[in-house]
Amino acid sequence: IPMAAAKKAKAIRVHELGGPEVMRWEEVEVEDPKEGEIRIRTTAIGVNFIDVYYRKGVYAAPALPFTPGREAVGVVTAVGPGLTGRKVGDVVAYAGNPMGSYAQEQVLPASVAVPVPPSVDHKEAASVMLKGMTAHVLLRRVFKVESGHTVLVHAAAGGVGSLLCQWASALGATVIGTVSTEEKAAQATQDGCHHVIMYTKEDVVTRVREITSGKGVNVVYDSVGKDTYKASVECLASRGCLVSFGQSSGLPDPIPMSDLASKSLFLTRPSLMHYTAIRDELLESAGEVFANVANGVLRVRVNHTYPLSEAARAHADLESRKTSGSIVLIPDT
Ligand code: NDP
Repeated sequence: IPMAAAKKAKAIRVHELGGPEVMRWEEVEVEDPKEGEIRIRTTAIGVNFIDVYYRKGVYAAPALPFTPGREAVGVVTAVGPGLTGRKVGDVVAYAGNPMGSYAQEQVLPASVAVPVPPSVDHKEAASVMLKGMTAHVLLRRVFKVESGHTVLVHAAAGGVGSLLCQWASALGATVIGTVSTEEKAAQATQDGCHHVIMYTKEDVVTRVREITSGKGVNVVYDSVGKDTYKASVECLASRGCLVSFGQSSGLPDPIPMSDLASKSLFLTRPSLMHYTAIRDELLESAGEVFANVANGVLRVRVNHTYPLSEAARAHADLESRKTSGSIVLIPDT
């Protein structure tokens, strides 16, 4: 069984919670993979808003210091004792658990890694693994979008938003997206949004009422949270579903049951990890994403790349709404 010796690598480390500047580029010891584990040399790392929540302490962070990041593509450099089905040199990707992908090397349970098809390059894979599986889960499992549905997607030009719009449109839905700028509006239109609302200039509820002739939408995919919750409820049709899957603007206030009773609404707060914890479900989601990249249903938007050592800059840009599409970190060599 190939077992490489423990070694040093560089990683981003968070020693205290706070702004992007708390992320430091440091040398760390990389462990050998234990039973059931593999070690990868990362080649492309996906940046996700969840990394910001952990860095700031919006989600309870692990013990300090920690290495952030929940998505990477890499090449297997060592496999744990007795592990079959994986070998040194395999190209794999993972999204979700464990944390620690902002690193040149990472040890992972083999059960979370999926093979990356050779047709998808590493940067592309790192840009669609977590965000694409999120889109899959939200559109196919959490609320099953059908042809004829009208859907509202907030942050339509964002990493997840771009994929949600493309996929929902391919499913035959009428897609309404909200964005902050003209540039993002143009991207959302290219991504299959039938109606784009620039929320910085237009009132979202009024526009959705106009577009839907007063009926409202079947489902709202809301990742913005605090700033959008109220409008999201108002935009829903009778018996509509609010899928609250993030809080880029902060956690929404506690929600009174009467908000739902007013239109017999459904409310769900899904997390990707609960929908991919079972290996078969993980493989199905990842398989659908990679197939849709290969067949052109999903256009990959790696709009921003940064060296891993400059992860702080990536976070600052993501948090200040400067980015669109996906952000990928490339490990410094
Ligand atoms: P995005 O690329 O979507 O970036 C966030 C975007 O949200 C911004 O570009 C901006 O778009 C919009 N936004 C609105 N208000 C704010 C604000 N106050 N601060 C920052 N951004 C704001 O990020 P991701 O694609 O990585 O993630 C999107 C969301 O999906 C996040 O909330 C994330 O937590 C969530 N998510 C949830 C998952 C789950 O399992 N539940 C899994 C994956 C992601 P604009 O300029 O157009 O307003």
